[in-house]
Amino acid sequence: MDLIQFQRLFNKEPRYRLEQAKKALFHDLIQNWQTAKTLPLSLREELNKEWPIEISAKTFVSKDRNTIKAILTLKDGLKIEAVLMRHKNKRNTICVSSQAGCPLNCSFCATGKMGFQRNLETWEIVEQVLFFARYLKKIKAKVTNIVFMGMGEPFLNYQNVLGAIRILNDKEGFNLGARHFSISTVGIVEGIEKLAKEKLQINLAISLHAPNDELRSKLMPINKKYPIKKVLNAVDDYIKKTRRRVMFEYMMLKNLNDSVKDAKTLAKLMKKPCARARTVQGRPLYFVNLISYNPTGIFKSSPSRATAKSKEDFTLFLTFASFGSSVGEEENLFSSPSLRIKKFKEILEKEGVAVTQRYRFGQGIKAACGQLALSDTKDILSKKKKENDNE
Ligand code: SAH
Repeated sequence: MDLIQFQRLFNKEPRYRLEQAKKALFHDLIQNWQTAKTLPLSLREELNKEWPIEISAKTFVSKDRNTIKAILTLKDGLKIEAVLMRHKNKRNTICVSSQAGCPLNCSFCATGKMGFQRNLETWEIVEQVLFFARYLKKIKAKVTNIVFMGMGEPFLNYQNVLGAIRILNDKEGFNLGARHFSISTVGIVEGIEKLAKEKLQINLAISLHAPNDELRSKLMPINKKYPIKKVLNAVDDYIKKTRRRVMFEYMMLKNLNDSVKDAKTLAKLMKKPCARARTVQGRPLYFVNLISYNPTGIFKSSPSRATAKSKEDFTLFLTFASFGSSVGEEENLFSSPSLRIKKFKEILEKEGVAVTQRYRFGQGIKAACGQLALSDTKDILSKKKKENDNE
């Protein structure tokens, strides 16, 4: 379903009816056409039949109440996840999924482990945002940012992702400014090239996670098709065309990619003279965002291996032998200690690389980056059902 199909439902109506319907849907955030009082009853009934807008979802709220995860059931019964993150400065970011599952199988990502089911339709992406917009409206708050960092690879569903952004950006519709959208990609070059040609000021983020191809290919098999150089070249062209700043996401993995040498190699990659390194108002057109590893429960190890050092860690990371482990243990084993992250950041800064560090949201309800996988959620569902159902 896309906007054109929606508009078709209004072909035989006076022009203003479409505007009224869009206002009811995207501004008043109605949950059922019956409540769109500006529309005649017969049209409301037809819309309810042809374009139902009820969204079936269950929600899970983190202890600090700043993160809410929704599991939405699609019309074919598939389930997907979306997350609302409430920041201190009144920003409300929705992390949306672009696919049910993911075909890319990055070694650290829970979504990858569930395999690929299908691409989401345009409207199924929009619904994730509408679900939280309706929730926020009840507490007099608004969606301020949308990031494609949920399940799936947005550039493998380019058409529908861009379709959803257009609907949510539409002035007569949801009306969220383009600069408030971010797409995160593993670096699908064709997607980056296409985005560069769109006349849309949205943000682009690249999941880099390693400073060399050998490690990146092990962590992210897609690197064999799109190695670092190809991705960076596409990003440079993108920056030349759009003059927009690009974020490189770098997940800090203990003894895997967090050494002084790794920091220096990364700095070299980033600073190579090119469009990226040009500055606008004193700032380069890229920055590195250091992310902590969020435990996914997909890696298993024996307690005696919890002290394993680099090589062994690495094998564990990639093969996850089935000894049984706790999330705490997994976190110890794979997350870089904070001092190590601090050092890494300092080296990048010293080398003149712009760098930030991401705050962790929603680990307790498995709502953080890379943790979205429905099989993992079953336990939470049964445990937390009573407390949080349909909040
Ligand atoms: N496919 C897209 C978007 C989905 S994931 C992409 O890869 O960019 C959004 C971000 O979360 C990516 O940077 C991804 O690498 C990261 N991520 C995946 N698993 C993670 C984990 N276990 N801990 C922290 N970040 C993770």
